Amino acid sequence: MPKQIISASEMERYGYCPLSWYLDLRGIDAEGDEVNTGVEKHKVIGDSLKNLLVEEEKSRETSTTLMVIVGLIMTVVTIALIILWLSTDVLRQNMGVILLIIGIGWMLIAAFFLYKLLLSTEKIDQLRDDYNLGEETIETPDGLTEETPVLKSRKYNLAGRPDYMIKENNLRIPVEVKTGRRPKAPFFSHVLQIGAYCLLSEETFRTSPSHGQIRYGFENEPHNVEWEPKLKTLVIEKIEEMNDIREGRTKAHRNHKRVGKCNSCSRRKGCPERLRN
Ligand code: SF4
Repeated sequence: MPKQIISASEMERYGYCPLSWYLDLRGIDAEGDEVNTGVEKHKVIGDSLKNLLVEEEKSRETSTTLMVIVGLIMTVVTIALIILWLSTDVLRQNMGVILLIIGIGWMLIAAFFLYKLLLSTEKIDQLRDDYNLGEETIETPDGLTEETPVLKSRKYNLAGRPDYMIKENNLRIPVEVKTGRRPKAPFFSHVLQIGAYCLLSEETFRTSPSHGQIRYGFENEPHNVEWEPKLKTLVIEKIEEMNDIREGRTKAHRNHKRVGKCNSCSRRKGCPERLRN
């Protein structure tokens, strides 16, 4: 029987607490205001990035149209000037003047597209400033893969969709945006998730990313997580553990002794191993 696909967000849940992931598999949903707020904030982040990418695509199209129009104007004006220069025939000279007028008409159209391009560039700069994105080329998984906007690994039975990827030559550095305050070091569960995205990026694009990025809100500096052999081994180990639990070879249990963690866990109500004060 083929193994069930594990998603990178499941790995995050597993990294937080294997039991939380297992309870989710058994249909025990996460509860609490923080879950809804997190989902809403994530949607806002996703929509904002989509806006930026749509605007960048529009800007590229406008720029191409503008270049075509400029090329057309140059051709028409050159032909008009040659006709006016060489021709002594009134009819031809009139034709030259008409072409010149057409050229001027196209200049007005070009001015309109230039204005559109400037507005669009201004909007892109503003959005990039808002999200601290600098000049890097960003992509979302949409349109990069053959069938679905999800990265997949057949070898590890893994799938996932990072919030976006930074394109550096032929490398794709996955980036996951998290809500909440920026910790000094990223949480283990988030490192595991970004590791899963690095593995997916490596397999999908056939080049290893140097690192993945975790951003706690757009206003803060990102944490870079190096994609090193140790992290790859850990990700593969966790996938194997999850498969073992799914197939009944082992059981999922709490992996910590922190009461506070259980108190803020969104599956605490339905959890048989919950720690209490
Ligand atoms: S309540 Fe505690 S033990 Fe239970 S799933 Fe949550 S974190 Fe794990």
